[in-house]
Amino acid sequence: MSSTVHFVGAGPGDAELITVKGARLLREADVVVYAGSLVDRELVRTYAPAAAVYDSAAMTLEETTAALTQAVADGKRAVRLHTGDPSIYGAIQEQMAELDRLGIAYAVVPGVTSAFAAAATLKQELTLPEVSQTVVITRLAGRTPVPEREKLSEIARIGATLVIYLSVSMIERVVAELLKGAYTPATPAAVVAKASWPDEEVVEGTLADIAAKVKEAGIGKQALILVGDVLKARREGMKAKSLLYDREFSHEFRKGIVT
Ligand code: SAH
Repeated sequence: MSSTVHFVGAGPGDAELITVKGARLLREADVVVYAGSLVDRELVRTYAPAAAVYDSAAMTLEETTAALTQAVADGKRAVRLHTGDPSIYGAIQEQMAELDRLGIAYAVVPGVTSAFAAAATLKQELTLPEVSQTVVITRLAGRTPVPEREKLSEIARIGATLVIYLSVSMIERVVAELLKGAYTPATPAAVVAKASWPDEEVVEGTLADIAAKVKEAGIGKQALILVGDVLKARREGMKAKSLLYDREFSHEFRKGIVT
């Protein structure tokens, strides 16, 4: 019997977007501590119908750690289930530090972060040749501070594709910060709420109108803001195709044909 606590990424919502490994660990779990505010209870019920389930939404770090350590002490298998991927705004480091302190082994199983679910919903590649080859995952400072050098207005100087978490309720401020950088009112923006859930919602526009559209749609949480010229591709066509599938481009696995 394993005495390893598993931190598992549940994926963005759709129960089929958990990894095969994550689903197996849930099926085998006796105890599941999950973030009830974001992870679908149905997903937990589907994969771990018999497990003792704790909703971490109303628990402190001490309480979640106690639930996991008690499970291990009782020889039970424990899963700490996080939304999306646990490494992105998952607050797992402090939980792992507690387990280190207590000498309890743990492992992390990745999940599909919501950025990628949102890109899938939009049917949008985030890295287009000659447009942007960089994706920045970031957030606006809220109650959790952001280091000064990572202020959104500083990040905005790069002009890369941005995926902004935890900030949709402050979208006016997001837009104001972005306009201090490389983006203009004409830069396309999209907001995807509850990506991969049955009630997902998409609002698309530009930095000039996205804030008003989001307010009008009544989107206030569990949404991502995507910004950047890559979003133009679906509306205005591609600027450049990748070399990977170009018939004249040779690489390790294919010889290009020069005509
Ligand atoms: N670890 C998670 C992020 C947790 S922080 C992940 O990898 O996705 C919570 C924030 O994630 C929310 O405020 C929202 O910005 C974003 N989020 C989580 N699930 C989402 C979903 N299904 N659709 C859109 N945004 C989501």
